[in-house]
Formats: sequence, structure tokens, C-alpha cells
Amino acid sequence: MPTRASDLVTLGLRIRHYRGERGLTLDQLGEKVGLAGSQLSLIENGRREPKLSILQDVATVLGVPIADLLNGEAPNRRAALEIELTRAQKNPLYGALGLPEVKVTKGMPVAALESLIGLHRELARRASEAIATPEEARRANTELRELMREQNNYMPDIEQLAEDRVRASGHVSGALTHREVSVMAEQLGFSLIYVNDLPNSTRSVTDLVNHRIYLPPASIPGGHGLRSMALQAMGHRLLGHERPASYAEFLWQRLQINYFAAACLMPPAASVAFLARAKSERELSVEDFRDAFGVTHEAAALRLTNLATSHLDMPLHFLRVTGDGALQKGYENDGLPLPVDVTGSIEGQFVCKQWSARSAFTHTNRTTEFYQYTDTPAGTFWSATQTGAADGGEFSISVGVPFVHAKWFRGRETVQRAVSRCPDESCCRRPASDLAAHWAGHAWPSARLHAHVLSPLPSGTFPGVDDTEVYEFLEAHAAP
Ligand SMILES: [Zn+2]
Repeated sequence: MPTRASDLVTLGLRIRHYRGERGLTLDQLGEKVGLAGSQLSLIENGRREPKLSILQDVATVLGVPIADLLNGEAPNRRAALEIELTRAQKNPLYGALGLPEVKVTKGMPVAALESLIGLHRELARRASEAIATPEEARRANTELRELMREQNNYMPDIEQLAEDRVRASGHVSGALTHREVSVMAEQLGFSLIYVNDLPNSTRSVTDLVNHRIYLPPASIPGGHGLRSMALQAMGHRLLGHERPASYAEFLWQRLQINYFAAACLMPPAASVAFLARAKSERELSVEDFRDAFGVTHEAAALRLTNLATSHLDMPLHFLRVTGDGALQKGYENDGLPLPVDVTGSIEGQFVCKQWSARSAFTHTNRTTEFYQYTDTPAGTFWSATQTGAADGGEFSISVGVPFVHAKWFRGRETVQRAVSRCPDESCCRRPASDLAAHWAGHAWPSARLHAHVLSPLPSGTFPGVDDTEVYEFLEAHAAP
């Protein structure tokens, strides 16, 4: 027997449909089954659940098997429209608008039904579009980072999935090739197609009917972008993703497909073997890991955060910082005091000027990693930073560990040392007192608008302007 309200609506419409075909009025059918016409009307409108005995009588009178009445499908197109409108009006989304429920009647023109249903569908689409406010985005992002920190940025299920798929492709060692990625797609029943006209807002599009994954024609020379994008598209399928219902779910799916792609490009068994060997030789380096697997420095650094704690027994941190010092991505499970805003979010916060993530920009030789020991209120950390440039400007990628673990890394012998007292504002967020005394009130900077939407503005005398930078600039350029 149907119990859900929507099933009762369908049942009612099926009864009405067959009654109409037999040319019976409500009262005529009611009389034959021992019900008042008004009660039968309630059943046909889905407002009352009929007893099974009544239903059997109705089926007998109408000359249809009872299973036909209980069939969950609408008896015809018009009935389908009526069911959809009735259901849509019972949706809490519509209820929240405080608008009246339109009574769905036999006399209602099909065009009216279609128009109302069209509006209801659009309402549902917009509500589920996951239009996140920056606040929601930040909160979701922070929750996800905390979740991953608890599990040491490690997802064993996805590691195993990647290992299995990579093995099945015939891959043996070294960098995963484009050919092997194609084989992985074929084994999944998809073909990879490279096109010039992908929609601007997409990185790949998967045709679920014809089983094709469309990708852009070329990738960054020497990069792993195209393989990664194809693997990410496959990740959605292999991980059984559905259309995300919220921004948080969207982020979670993104994290999972990125993880899957990275775990394919740097397969777990081979990566752990490579890193464990480097550790035993005290030659751990992101550079070597990157070159061994043919990926970007950032991808190798992030991959190290997946494996280091679970397989090499060391906590660590990862930072991607822009040329102006803002943190774009960060991860730590080693206690490095990352800058956070009141909501606990780190993105867009400025890291300490003493950290290698920023001091590396001031060094002229940037072809290799820059190594530094930094004393912080949470202890001494060793870090390796590689700088680079992209469309958005300069950036640095840092991986670091607490002092006791520096011994496993190449670059441990560096004499570069710095002291960071952040989050104490006197460390690097407030101008030196002599400079402030000299320049306060005599400087008039014009702020550059910050492009990064999640970025907070540095707080200075002028909104969006770092006083220290202004004063130091003026001091350096002032006449001697
Ligand atoms: Zn500082």
C-alpha cells in the first residue's frame, strides 16, 4: 500500500483516470463501492488513504488489476503534470514563500500547469545551485581543512583506488604517461577527446551518454595538467559523485578528485618506496620527488603532506603564498602557527615576513629550493621554499617540519636562520617605532584594490595598506 503523500496523489490520479475512461461520475463509482462521492473525491485528490478492501472493490468495478492502480507512474502526460505540480506545492521550498497552494483541477489548462511547473522547477534549480557567499565558502573550507588535519591529510580508500586503477593500466614505474591515462579511461568505458572549444568555465566536460571526457588540447609544457584533469574527471565517476547539493559538498568532491588524481600521478606504493629511501639516505626533497614523477613542485609538495605522517612518521606543513605574503593554501599538523581570522580561516591571511615562504622572494638565486630554520613561539621549524611565477604573479611553495625532523631532508645544513614572533604584532605587523615616529602623519599612500576575493585587507592607517611597507619605502627613498 502507498504511504507517502506523493504516492497517494499518483494513486488518486490513476483511479480518476480509469474512472474517466469508464465514463463514471464520482457518485456512480462511489455507489458501487459503498463510498460517498465526496469521500472518493478525497481519495482521488490524494488526501485520504483508501483501505485495501475499498481499493480492491474500485479495481474490480473499473475492470483493472489492483497492481495497475498501485503503479507509481502517472497514467498519462496531463496526470504527470498534475502530480508534479501537486508535489512541487508541497515542497518546503515553496511553503517557505508563504504563497497559497493552487488547487489542481480538471479544468486547469495544460499551459497553466506547464507554466507553474516551469516556475517551480526554476525555483528548485536556483535553490540547489549552491550559490555560496564568501562567508559560507570560508566556513566550508575551514571545516574541510580541520577534517583533513585530523586524518593527517590521508585518505586510504582513495589511495587504494588509485593504486588499483594505475596497476590495471599496465603502469610499472616512474611518471604516469598520457597513454596510461588513456588506458585508464578506456577501462572505465570512456574515451578522452581533446577539443579547442571547451566552455570557458570548465576544465573538462564528461558526456555520460556517449562516454566521452572532453579535455582542452594542450597543457602547460612539462606540466602534468592534462593528465591531472583527465584523472580528476575519472575520479568523479569512480567515486560515485552526484551533483553536489551544497558548496561544502562541492568542495569535498573537489578535494577527493584532486586527491585521486595526485595519487594516480604519484602512486602510493611507488611514492612511499621513493620517499622512504630518500629519508633513509637523509636526502628527502620535494625537488627530487617532483622530478621522479613528472609533476609540478606544488603537486609533489602537496602529495608529500598525504604520505609523510602516515608513512614516514613525521608531521609537516605546506604553504602556498603569493608575492605579497598572502596565504593561498595551507596545511599543517606540526603545530606551525598559521595566521587565522576570527572564523578560523587561513586563506588570504598574511604569513609572517620572517618565514621562508616570504623571505625566499628576497633572494636572488631562486633556481633551487631556499632552506631556512625559523624560531617561532611554537618551536623551531626547518623549511624548504621554491618560488615561481604564474599568471597571477609570484608565489612560493614551502614544505617544512619541526626541527627534530629536519635531519631527514636535503638542505638541513643551511645557516639561514630567522626569528618569528608572530602572531605578536610587534614581530612584523607593526612598523618599527622609530620609523612610525618619523613617518606617521606624513605618508599618503593610495591603496591598490586586492584582487583575491577571500583576502582580508592588511590593516594600516589607510585601509588596504601596510604601514610598515609604506614607511620602509619612504625611508629608503627619502633624501639622505
Ligand atoms: Zn612576523
